[in-house]
Amino acid sequence: MMTSPSDMVKDKTVLNIDSIRNDFPELLRMVHGVPLRYLDNAASTLKPKRVINTVSDFYAQSYSNIHRGVYLTSQEATQKYENVRTIVADFISAADPSEIIFTKGATEAINLVAATWGDKHINEGDEIIITTMEHHANIVPWQMLCEKKNATLKIIPIDDNGEIILEEYAKLLSEKTKLIACVYASNSLGTINPLTTIIAMAKNVGACVLVDGAQAIQHIPLNVQELNCDFFVFSGHKVYAPSGTGVLYGKKEILNSMPPYQTGGDMIRKVTFEKTTFAAVPARFEAGTPNIEGAIGLGAAIEYIRDLGIEEIGAYENMLLQYATEKLQQIPELNIIGKAHDKVAVISFTLGSVHPHDIGSMLDRKGIAVRAGHHCTQPLWERYGVTATTRASFAFYNTKEEIDALFEALHSVVKMFA
Ligand code: PMP
Repeated sequence: MMTSPSDMVKDKTVLNIDSIRNDFPELLRMVHGVPLRYLDNAASTLKPKRVINTVSDFYAQSYSNIHRGVYLTSQEATQKYENVRTIVADFISAADPSEIIFTKGATEAINLVAATWGDKHINEGDEIIITTMEHHANIVPWQMLCEKKNATLKIIPIDDNGEIILEEYAKLLSEKTKLIACVYASNSLGTINPLTTIIAMAKNVGACVLVDGAQAIQHIPLNVQELNCDFFVFSGHKVYAPSGTGVLYGKKEILNSMPPYQTGGDMIRKVTFEKTTFAAVPARFEAGTPNIEGAIGLGAAIEYIRDLGIEEIGAYENMLLQYATEKLQQIPELNIIGKAHDKVAVISFTLGSVHPHDIGSMLDRKGIAVRAGHHCTQPLWERYGVTATTRASFAFYNTKEEIDALFEALHSVVKMFA
């Protein structure tokens, strides 16, 4: 018997996937009478029991507001919440837990930097550089800032494979460049950008760097100090944590030099009717009662993936990516967009002239959850001359069997529309 290319992709994982799947109750769900096959992990991830139980136990046992209560449960809640800052700081190798600001997601973290650091440092004639593959969350805040300040937004082009053209990036850099805002891994193409090089080149012209790590945190080991980025943002819900949580990491001296974002309780040093002075970080950027239970769930999620091993997770997902890529390429009508050398486990594709929404709906009837649309990267799709794609994205709880099911289901779509 001939060996098909996909049979050659060997699973050498040390992860116990059967046991891992048992950690995720939603994976046991039936949809339309068939088992759920969740392949939309770039949009959001399912939640392990460790996160569900941590949040549920907190509600049942220690729920209180944080920081100002002198009674036991408030102190317990404060300790749990603050402990997550240390867990996150260790996970991304920040120098100090106070460099971790809790936000409601990557979007809010980027808007915070644009509204505070941006308002202070961007002036008329300055330039901000982003890439063609940015999520709208890392385009629109900079676009609006540039409009307000009469500054210019410049875009690093990409090649057909979906890789940044570094020579073109070099040409955009000058003493006018004040910020590079760059995605680490693209939610639409999967491309992992060469951040070390990108950041070193930015630093050569004295520019600040913000990294959108929303699609990196769950796949790639991180050391923000080694990367030497000034800001790093991510969302909790894409890293197995509750939605409405996220993180802005910033270098402490930069964060402390930034004006406040939202104002109110918790972020002040002293308020009089004449004048208010502001707290140092992290409190400075956490006005009002935060998502306490969400942050505590985020801590549990990060401990969960840390215990599995982020390198082991990355290696297994990479095997799934190779397997799925080889398999899907056997369908002649299918065209994968995003063929970078280094990718996270994301595959965007078109299938002849079938609309992605039709593909998504047909796959749904077979229990397969994928995303169909522009994935909040409209300018990127304009670069490729398409308006929408279907996207399958994998997590460490996915299996080759689920990819086989996707392959079979796509065959039926082709047959139906042929
Ligand atoms: N950046 C990237 C690369 C993303 O994939 C996403 C979410 N799709 C975001 C930013 C925005 O994240 P959120 O909606 O959780 O704030």
